[in-house]
Amino acid sequence: MKLVIFGPPSAGKGTQAQKLSQKYGIPQVSTGDLLRKAVAEKTPLGLKVKSYLDQGRLGPDDLIVKLIQERVSKPDCKKGYLLDGFPRTIGQAKELDKMTEVDVVLNIVVDFDVLVERAVGRRSCPKCGAVYHIKFNPPANKDTCEKCGSRLVQRDDDKEETVRNRLKVYREQTAPLVEHYRKKGKIADIDGSKGIDAVFEQMVKVVDGLSRSP
Ligand SMILES: [Zn+2]
Repeated sequence: MKLVIFGPPSAGKGTQAQKLSQKYGIPQVSTGDLLRKAVAEKTPLGLKVKSYLDQGRLGPDDLIVKLIQERVSKPDCKKGYLLDGFPRTIGQAKELDKMTEVDVVLNIVVDFDVLVERAVGRRSCPKCGAVYHIKFNPPANKDTCEKCGSRLVQRDDDKEETVRNRLKVYREQTAPLVEHYRKKGKIADIDGSKGIDAVFEQMVKVVDGLSRSP
């Protein structure tokens, strides 16, 4: 079972990936985690990666692909794996095609306005880290943290312009990938506007459907 998950920032992709990994007993292989681990372990590949990260770059496709290749050849990936944050470019997708045939790409689709509303309404406590939402989870006292009484702030990351920009980058980056996999008949669109459980249910339906087909 080889799964790929796509989803825009703040669409709950990380949570869904964790749930899938648990349910199906397959490791979640995340490019971000692999990069951090390689750097921390100072492997030859890790040191190379570090030199790119230090320049604020992710590193060339062949390096990333090598990291992924190393990871999925480990014994715990025998039953399959879930790729998260990979492939990120068409180059990487083509390398992955050479390596293996993925079963399905779970593509979380959410209207960007919904994601903007979720992010822009978020208020965080600078002191204790508690997170609220002015509409979905408002604090009892406006602008004040219920846990420690500090004044809540909107993080820069949650400002509308930043959020929209992040989403735009995601769309530009992912559109060609979605098209690549759609042509191969591998895309399963998942309605990400629902709650965590409803989104997960859709994914399970897709994945369970895979094992039933010959
Ligand atoms: Zn607080």
